[in-house]
Amino acid sequence: MKHLLIATLAALTAVSAFAEYPDKPITIVVPFAAGGPTDKVARDLAEALRKPLGGNTIIIENVGGAGGTLGATKVARASNDGYTLLLHHIGMATAPALYRTMQYKTLEDFEYLGMINEVPMTLIGKPGLPANNYAELAKWIDANKGKINLANAGLGAASHLCGLLFQNTLKVDMTTVPYKGTGPAMTDLLGGQVDLMCDQSTNTTAQIEGGKVKAYAVTTMKRLTTPALAKLPTLDESGLKGFNVTIWHAMYAPKGTPKAITDKINAALKLALHDPDFIKHQEALGAVIISDARVNGPEHKKFVEAEIAKWGPIIKAAGQYAD
Ligand code: ASP
Repeated sequence: MKHLLIATLAALTAVSAFAEYPDKPITIVVPFAAGGPTDKVARDLAEALRKPLGGNTIIIENVGGAGGTLGATKVARASNDGYTLLLHHIGMATAPALYRTMQYKTLEDFEYLGMINEVPMTLIGKPGLPANNYAELAKWIDANKGKINLANAGLGAASHLCGLLFQNTLKVDMTTVPYKGTGPAMTDLLGGQVDLMCDQSTNTTAQIEGGKVKAYAVTTMKRLTTPALAKLPTLDESGLKGFNVTIWHAMYAPKGTPKAITDKINAALKLALHDPDFIKHQEALGAVIISDARVNGPEHKKFVEAEIAKWGPIIKAAGQYAD
């Protein structure tokens, strides 16, 4: 009888703990530096998530480095109480092919919460670059082989993946300069310390619109409709046949986070993705909000499995690895 009472009390306490979730600030780990595209999406989303998550404060913690794997490791090892979450991108699916040793298992160490958006990338150059369009850039690259450097956010970052495909398609090696995120990389590009970068439109639209960087192309198969980016050709139409990179963002919790909590986060995520301010801001930066079943954890996980299968052979063929 006594045991039954204790068990019942324990179960009731557990249920009420989930019922109250969240009752304190939630931390979203962004595995890249502040000021970059992943950080921008996270800060936008945090605004939209606050109300559906009971008005609690949402803290963004930037844990940049090693192409996003340091931040992902931190969340894989965090308490599975719903108060530490991860907002990551395609690097979740490309890291397993890029790193010989990983500190976490992509498909086993997380609860998949759902997908947020898909974002095109743009190929941009430092302000003083003499090339004013893609045709001129191709000539400039030809004339400057061996001297060109390309910024990225480390092995496994979206900027790395795009830059890798770009070099492979052109069959030109560039010196890659890794940063903890493309926020700081953009600062150096603007200052002329690096020549080129491939980065998400969520980080480059304002700079392109303001004429602060040279913009050459988008990485999607179709031109974009976002006013600031509509004039840019695709790399495919510029001669790099089939060049197609789209970046996605999604949310994760440490493995074992109770379903009652992940369900609450997923419900809040769906509400946030319908927030008119969030939609307006994201769309103005070229992002497309997810409106299909991938907004759910299980469907997003299936998508990540497909992305791992898609990118693994491409990355392996490019012969890029880190320990
Ligand atoms: N997402 C960017 C990239 O992969 C990095 C960042 O968010 O700062 O290049």
